[in-house]
Amino acid sequence: MTDSRPVVTRFAPSPTGYLHIGGARTALFNWLYARGRGGKFLLRIEDTDRARSTPEATEAILQGLRWLGLDWDGEPVSQFAGVARHAEVARAMLENGTAYKCFSTAEEIEAFREKAKAEGRSTLFLSPWRDADPASLPDGPHAIRLKAPRDGETVVRDAVQGDVTFGNAQLDDMVLLRSDGTPTYMLAVVVDDHDMGVTHVIRGDDHLTNAARQIQIYQAMGWDIPVFAHIPLIHGPDGKKLSKRHGAVGLHEYAAMGYPAAAMRNYLARLGWSHGDDELFDDAQARAWFDLDGIGKAPARLDFKKLEHVSGWHIARMGDAELLEEIARFRAATGAPPLSGRQIARLLPALEALKAKAKTLPALLDQAHFALIDRPVAVEEKAAAALDTVSRGILTELTAAVQNASWDRNELEAAAKRIGESHGLGLGKVAAPLRAALAGRSSTPSVFDMMLALGRDETVARLQDQAG
Ligand code: GLU
Repeated sequence: MTDSRPVVTRFAPSPTGYLHIGGARTALFNWLYARGRGGKFLLRIEDTDRARSTPEATEAILQGLRWLGLDWDGEPVSQFAGVARHAEVARAMLENGTAYKCFSTAEEIEAFREKAKAEGRSTLFLSPWRDADPASLPDGPHAIRLKAPRDGETVVRDAVQGDVTFGNAQLDDMVLLRSDGTPTYMLAVVVDDHDMGVTHVIRGDDHLTNAARQIQIYQAMGWDIPVFAHIPLIHGPDGKKLSKRHGAVGLHEYAAMGYPAAAMRNYLARLGWSHGDDELFDDAQARAWFDLDGIGKAPARLDFKKLEHVSGWHIARMGDAELLEEIARFRAATGAPPLSGRQIARLLPALEALKAKAKTLPALLDQAHFALIDRPVAVEEKAAAALDTVSRGILTELTAAVQNASWDRNELEAAAKRIGESHGLGLGKVAAPLRAALAGRSSTPSVFDMMLALGRDETVARLQDQAG
């Protein structure tokens, strides 16, 4: 094991066009593990599939990571750029006797498999060239295959799954370099992880079998094997493997739903990892607490109720500047224009009251509607019903009262109560026309919170607009 080396982790996505929520969690785990230990977190784009690996597809992943607030060390590494190095390692393995040239053609291998299947034998292809006399080798196109051990076992000592044993007889001599000279994925991953100095490979457990094959390459080269931690995949709320059917699978979709990045970091960290009963925490705590021991073996389920809860907690404790930044990013994610300076100036004094109640950014902005609109306030139909003749008269009286009241909640509330009582009406009945006048809606934050946020001049002007 390699625990004494400084920690180097990596996230190695294949560009698919967006950052999957599972990929985001893998990246987060690697980031937390490295950042909590003064280590490095590297990024490698597995871009050997040239058709899918467009600059846009790569950029979408970088953008997702940036949105989530995960910074990486150095430049992202392109796997494709390392092709020559991968081939060089395959040749080094030929030299040291852990690999061999295989001249079997695709047709021969296919024919072997067909026959083995028909005869009910194992279809594991064993190349006739494995033990061929090097002096007798033909000249011509050939693959380079690993001379994998035929006996014994390969054990993945996994930090999450425990020791997972693979019988070597079940693992074929995998191709390292194809006959067209291109390296295979399995070789590329090992060479890249070795060259990047990766000490801990934290990734989805769909790669567990790959780890056994990769370990054989490490052994063939005499390289240090990194610590492997294969984490269970994320499942949907119904316990089935997460798919589009469950709704959002791309991180950008969560950004557009208005969950702040800080909340996503907290929520994703808890998706498969735990630290006692702690559900709500900040980055510093997550960095200090995160460890491979806390990763569970059972797949974690997406739970939107929990996510809302985590989101509300983060919104409530966010400083104004951070919250405004999150709002700006949310609007950008949905294609909404940025808030104007005027809107921000009106929103700021309202934030304290708003953030205590909102679970998501759109919920907060919906309640902030009164602060974002300009006069004349457009009154929605439902709210307009509260603006009858009596109510308009009350607004007139209120206008006069608030013009002279000192601008604090108690006085404003006392004035509204007094005027209501003189009409035989409770505060609730007075609030309805006030909501209509100040926000144009029937569902709003407290009328006094709105007045305090809008200030005297704007409040008086809005009341006068609707007063009878
Ligand atoms: N590129 C692989 C994927 O996107 C990850 C490989 C790895 O982490 O070793 O699933």
